[in-house]
Amino acid sequence: MKILYCQTNRPEAALAHELLHIKLLCDGYRPYTSSLALTKKGSCALPELLAMLNNEIPHHRFYEDFLALGFTGTQMYCDSDVDSFKRITDAASKLSGKEPTEDFLRLYLTLIAPGGDGDSNEKDRAFMTLQSKAGSRWRELERIKGIIEEYRDATGLDSELYIRRILQVLGGYEKAWVGFDDDFPRCGFFTTEEFTQEEGEAAERQYCNFR
Ligand SMILES: [Zn+2]
Repeated sequence: MKILYCQTNRPEAALAHELLHIKLLCDGYRPYTSSLALTKKGSCALPELLAMLNNEIPHHRFYEDFLALGFTGTQMYCDSDVDSFKRITDAASKLSGKEPTEDFLRLYLTLIAPGGDGDSNEKDRAFMTLQSKAGSRWRELERIKGIIEEYRDATGLDSELYIRRILQVLGGYEKAWVGFDDDFPRCGFFTTEEFTQEEGEAAERQYCNFR
């Protein structure tokens, strides 16, 4: 396990945050960040989507533990967090509205992240800007928020069920395998029908030649 670091004004809080990520793993949280898929969307979009979920979902789960250590919600993220809502407003206003839901989700997950150092008026503005651009997909984003909250309040630590449901809300992730380890297919689950490693890797080569 490796913790990357950079200059910060709150080193104790930053270290505690990273150690809570590791504690969650030690307690049994599985990082579902590996994937193979037969579809173009699954092959190309799953790696980034899963990495994003694997970073954000634990924050909801350990936020209360972070506070219990004596830190404040404003110390939860990096120093530049103070500008995060302004950055979201800027990014959201540049969206045409026709992007895939995943593009909205990236900004939305930052907005609903527990704790943070941003200004509440800027947060409201970011919410409104994103909601107006997301249109009917706002409901999908809210459903995903509900699923993350269910995971936060669940007893068990395995997030498979919740990842499955988030992928169902987003749509287009059938014929995919999602794993918490590269050991295919043992350490993971198929979203729908099973396939072989060769089939998955062939799709990856066909659709994502950057990988
Ligand atoms: Zn984190």
